[in-house]
Amino acid sequence: MSFRVRVFVLVLLVAVAAIGATAWLTFGLASRQIADSQAAATRHVVDTAETVRAYARRHGTWRGVSERVRLLSDDSHQRIRLVNLYGQVTVDTDHLAHRAARPVVNPPTLIDPRPTLKIPNDLTEVQLGPGARTQDPASTKAELFTQTAIDRYRRTQLFARCLVERFIEPPPLSQDWFGVPFAADKVVDDRDCQQQTTGQAEWDRAGDVTATKACRTEDVPQDCLVKAFGDRVATFSPEPLQLFLGAVDDDAATLVGRPTVIAAGGILVLALIGTALIARNVSRPVRSLTAASRRLADGHLDTRVPPVGSGELGQLSTSFNRMAQALEVAEAAQRRLVASVAHELRTPLSNLLGYLEALQDGVLPPSRELFASLHDEAQLQRRILDDLQDLTLAESGHLTYRRVDFDLCDLVEAARVAHLAVAEAAGVRLTAEVAGPLPVHGDQDRLRQVLGNLVTNALRYTDAGGAVVLRAFPEEGRSVVEVEDTGCGIEPADLPFVFQRFWRADPARDRATGGSGLGLTIARQIVLDHDGTIDASSTPGVGSTFRVTL
Ligand code: ADP
Repeated sequence: MSFRVRVFVLVLLVAVAAIGATAWLTFGLASRQIADSQAAATRHVVDTAETVRAYARRHGTWRGVSERVRLLSDDSHQRIRLVNLYGQVTVDTDHLAHRAARPVVNPPTLIDPRPTLKIPNDLTEVQLGPGARTQDPASTKAELFTQTAIDRYRRTQLFARCLVERFIEPPPLSQDWFGVPFAADKVVDDRDCQQQTTGQAEWDRAGDVTATKACRTEDVPQDCLVKAFGDRVATFSPEPLQLFLGAVDDDAATLVGRPTVIAAGGILVLALIGTALIARNVSRPVRSLTAASRRLADGHLDTRVPPVGSGELGQLSTSFNRMAQALEVAEAAQRRLVASVAHELRTPLSNLLGYLEALQDGVLPPSRELFASLHDEAQLQRRILDDLQDLTLAESGHLTYRRVDFDLCDLVEAARVAHLAVAEAAGVRLTAEVAGPLPVHGDQDRLRQVLGNLVTNALRYTDAGGAVVLRAFPEEGRSVVEVEDTGCGIEPADLPFVFQRFWRADPARDRATGGSGLGLTIARQIVLDHDGTIDASSTPGVGSTFRVTL
């Protein structure tokens, strides 16, 4: 699986887990809230149903119930919906709040405004009173009781409805013998309504008598009378309604489920896009690094990757570029070394070949001087090869050192004595100024090689009449050796290169002096291996000073 896909899958898994956990929490909390709200609805349903039913009985109509329902809803914080048995909405607080009615899921409660007639077992004591207007002599007392109850309730309802139509609040109801609510006629003195009600009530009385008499043939006439009462009052009572109650009508699944799914889907899409972008951003530098390393492996050492910020990938890119540059530099150095070695060896070899061919062809007669010259050329080649071997060993850390304790002043004095003859031959004054003893721990032979190289150079680049001074002295707890000459000096621009292999200030002149261009490079490596430093200072035309600190 590619790096990009792995990052993508990983981030996606985290996103899905986070979304799932959030959705689960939200769903759980919402479900609990909905359950609480449903419990509250159950608590309120009895009161609400009773209040709404009392309204219908008192007003004889559902007209104007909206206002009462609105007040009830405000008090109980419940959504209230009243629907008749045919599904027609009488009132819905969602409509009153000017919004679309939400679907209902709670079971409805039936509100039937009709009262239930209660017929006492013993009717002997019952006085039918002024309401008993039917007084049908052929009826039993129970029948008369029922007829009276129907008649009183009818007049109560018709009178209340008439008042409502005239925008008059009907009077409160009281309970009578029959368990039927009624209003005393005179509480609201409205003659028109009283006349109208009396007229309409008269009209239905014959039906009441017939309905109650029909119960005589029944096994339980009392139950039949109760039913007859209900049937008769149904014709003028407000129709039964279904009451739906609930602060929230949706169940948890539809209420929270859908929004949660939509939100989770949205977040998931965002997570997908974000993840794809992150994966691309992360994988792009990785891919470019992979491609760059392939190119590098194929030998394109000039390959570099564009920097990508300062993060881990940025650091990786920088390291890669540094590595590529180091490889490029190393390869260039190697190429230069091979070219230099070839060049260095070719000159003495050409000389040798030239002389040998001239001897062979008889162009030059063999002489002692000629053989001496040939010997010099061969010597030079061997020195170059020896120096190269030393340098390679030193640079790879394989040059072995036999370290002992010795006095550096002795080494300086020995070097002076060793080069005295050469100095005299060159007409250069060679002196030493030592402030010993200077005890050091190191490889005497290798340090002698270093000093010898410095003195040889000093004598080589100093004309007759000049002077070379060797100094050895302590400085800040370290031992210092200086080789100062009054030679031609080194140009400031050339000074940084004197320790580079095969570097010479003036190749033509040096060719004549027979240097390999490796002496100072080897000297520096030996000094570094002794934890020391070597540096050069020079003024062209005045002289140079090489200083070794151990
Ligand atoms: P070489 O064997 O050619 O002397 P070195 O590595 O010892 O090689 O020196 C490198 C170059 O540094 C020389 O070719 C010369 O140009 C310059 N150099 C070294 N020592 C001195 C000196 N004392 N005075 C002037 N130039 C010097």
